Amino acid sequence: AKDSGKNTHEFFNAEMNAQTVERLVLENSLRQALERDEFELHFQPQVNAVSRELVGVEVLLRWRHPQQGLVAPGRFIPLAEETGLIKPIGAWVLQAACHQLRRWDREGLIIPRVAVNLSARQFEQPNLISLVAGALEESGLAPQRLELEITESMIMQNPVETVRILNELKHLGVQLAIDDFGTGYSSLSILKRFPLDSLKIDRSFVDGLPQDGDSAAITEAVLAMARKLGFAVVAEGVEHEGQANFLQAIGCDSLQGYFFGKPMPAEHFVVWLAAGEAT
Ligand code: C2E
Ligand code: CA
Ligand code: CA
Ligand code: CA
Repeated sequence: AKDSGKNTHEFFNAEMNAQTVERLVLENSLRQALERDEFELHFQPQVNAVSRELVGVEVLLRWRHPQQGLVAPGRFIPLAEETGLIKPIGAWVLQAACHQLRRWDREGLIIPRVAVNLSARQFEQPNLISLVAGALEESGLAPQRLELEITESMIMQNPVETVRILNELKHLGVQLAIDDFGTGYSSLSILKRFPLDSLKIDRSFVDGLPQDGDSAAITEAVLAMARKLGFAVVAEGVEHEGQANFLQAIGCDSLQGYFFGKPMPAEHFVVWLAAGEAT
């Protein structure tokens, strides 16, 4: 028995590279993060393109790691999706986001709308609809104040199943937005078959505005078609006034990006709002 134990040990030493170990450590701490209350929501303002008044916030998840400090979602969401941990984490995000809006309501701070990102894995959950319904009911948030962001690839992976789920979500009264628009392969005419309210033009197109002719042409074309099809259009990744003015001029409905405000923890967002930065 002693010998086989040693062999196993050697096997692991040989086979497990540093990356694998790091992954296991990350997975373990990710499993504990919810129980230990280490996740927090950051809020990024979305403003009306013309009046520049606050129309809503997008919730962006952060992990307050005890050793590593604030960890961005790019470093743990992929693993959370692989392991399925995104389901309980995503449920927490939904509930926490709805409750935060109601907390602000009670404090007399009316944030019109909150947008929450959904992962493809959450669409596999048979209880996704009741999860969303439950978050709305428990918090008392009006459904039209909740917007769910999904990506093009989620729609295209399984269009039949996705349209069924989206219809049920729409039936609850929530808003549906398509995120990172333009990065996938879907055409606007296909998207029209889905009960979507708005689309978010991906940052990669906004980056080159207004100088880059291709970006400008694509953005204008997307906008023209989106308007004809009845989608509201949000531009993300707006970092400069030049971009904001261009997007306003071509008829974008709302704008989001560092130029207006970075994602902020709730207490900073309140300070930002009080300073009147949205107007
Ligand atoms: P996303 O949904 O496309 O979110 C926009 C990302 O762009 C955010 O990165 C945001 O901080 C960043 N951003 C916003 N404005 C600007 C800008 O003007 N310039 C630049 N350079 N970046 C800007 P973040 O917070 O690191 O989130 C990355 C991604 O992680 C999100 O992309 C989303 O796909 C995912 N994610 C974040 N929170 C959640 C969540 O609660 N659930 C799920 N499933 N995914 C989430
Ligand atoms: Ca998003
Ligand atoms: Ca996006
Ligand atoms: Ca993205």
